[in-house]
Amino acid sequence: MILPNDFNEASRHSFCVLPWIHRFINLGGEIQLCCNSEEYEQSHIRSDSGNLINVTDGFTDKQIGDTRHMREIRKSMLQGTWPAVCKRCMTVEQCGGTSRRVSENQHFKHHIPWILENTDEQGHAPVNIRSRDYRLGNLCNLRCRMCHPRASKLLLEEWNQVSRRRLRLKGESVRQLEQMGWFQNEKLWDEFADNIHDLEHLHFAGGEPLITPEVIQALEICVEKGAAKQIELTFNTNITKIPRKHRDLWPQFKTVNLFCSIDAFGALNDYIRYPSKWATIARNLDIIDREHERLNLGLVAISATVQIYNILGLADLIEYSHERFSFIRPMPNLVHLSMPDYFDIKFLPDDLKKLVAKQMSDLRQRLESNGVVNGFEQLDGILTYMNSGSHSAFVMSEFRRVTIAFDQLREESAVDLVPELSGLMQTTSKKSPGSRFRLIMSRFEWLAGRIKNKLFR
Ligand code: SF4
Repeated sequence: MILPNDFNEASRHSFCVLPWIHRFINLGGEIQLCCNSEEYEQSHIRSDSGNLINVTDGFTDKQIGDTRHMREIRKSMLQGTWPAVCKRCMTVEQCGGTSRRVSENQHFKHHIPWILENTDEQGHAPVNIRSRDYRLGNLCNLRCRMCHPRASKLLLEEWNQVSRRRLRLKGESVRQLEQMGWFQNEKLWDEFADNIHDLEHLHFAGGEPLITPEVIQALEICVEKGAAKQIELTFNTNITKIPRKHRDLWPQFKTVNLFCSIDAFGALNDYIRYPSKWATIARNLDIIDREHERLNLGLVAISATVQIYNILGLADLIEYSHERFSFIRPMPNLVHLSMPDYFDIKFLPDDLKKLVAKQMSDLRQRLESNGVVNGFEQLDGILTYMNSGSHSAFVMSEFRRVTIAFDQLREESAVDLVPELSGLMQTTSKKSPGSRFRLIMSRFEWLAGRIKNKLFR
């Protein structure tokens, strides 16, 4: 097999190394393609008999890699056709951003020759897992507004108070979310220990991985087996805590990278990532920036989930990051949120979209006048994404409903922190017959969009 020379340029090809070398285990033990595709149904790997594979089923890496499902993805990628499951990377590339596909192909480029040489026409390839990504359950100390109890069990009670009846959790699903424990299993860790001799990359997200006991267990296994020195360790963390045990273990790895989930500067971050305390987060970022060598940190970046709450506060976070740090990357990674859709910036009204565009353009000028030359493609990517959809009165009415429900429970106010949202939060106009009709039509459009997405994913 051969690839064109420009295969790793945006939108030129669909080849990605991950289906050959990566294993992703999600919060409930689901085996999925990669975290970038997790919201897509086809991301859940199925056995040839059509059943979703869970880590508790005991499939080996070879059995998973040989499934028809995985072979179809590989075949499609080698032919240059985007598998439906990789839509997120495709969209990022179409919006001019750098997709995870492009980054992973760069990072693992040394594996591409054997992949091309050893993959047959049916998509069969040798088992060679070099990168593992684990979400070890839903233990987290935060209850972020855009999160789900699957990722933070602390959110369960509020979720049921805020969500529409059809989305509420009850009975067995509540019990499962409260007692998620597939990772408290000796066999799993024995197999992990047996399969890390040539591991190059180990990633943990959550939940909050820095407070999850089994993450420490995994790191200790890597050290005991003598594999740590070859492993690049990465975390998605809310950086509210840097436990002593982690500080002691990190220097024993090849390098450690942190992607700090921070969505805004100051009180707005605490509002979104409730009940974090900005003073603690700022102190921890300063420790990391100052002590990165002692902690063996290779790369630290802020990763912001761009949504309606923070899009008008992004400039503050970006400027803080540029002014404050010497080691932490000055430009945060900006990742657009698409689920739940009522927080998605695509559905904002046009007047707010214009305001966002103006703010971004002003920010860009200020950064440029301070000598900044890198990272602007992130801003462009967010603007392109925002403008790739149209205002939905129905989705925005859901935004308003959910925001008011959370605000009442938490005794907070979105408008106090983001006054620009005051128009969006007004409910009176909804009562006029004309606006009622528009809302109904908008709901139909939203439903039609959902059906279309389901059918053509
Ligand atoms: S192309 Fe993107 S979504 Fe698909 S496997 Fe690669 S990183 Fe994941």
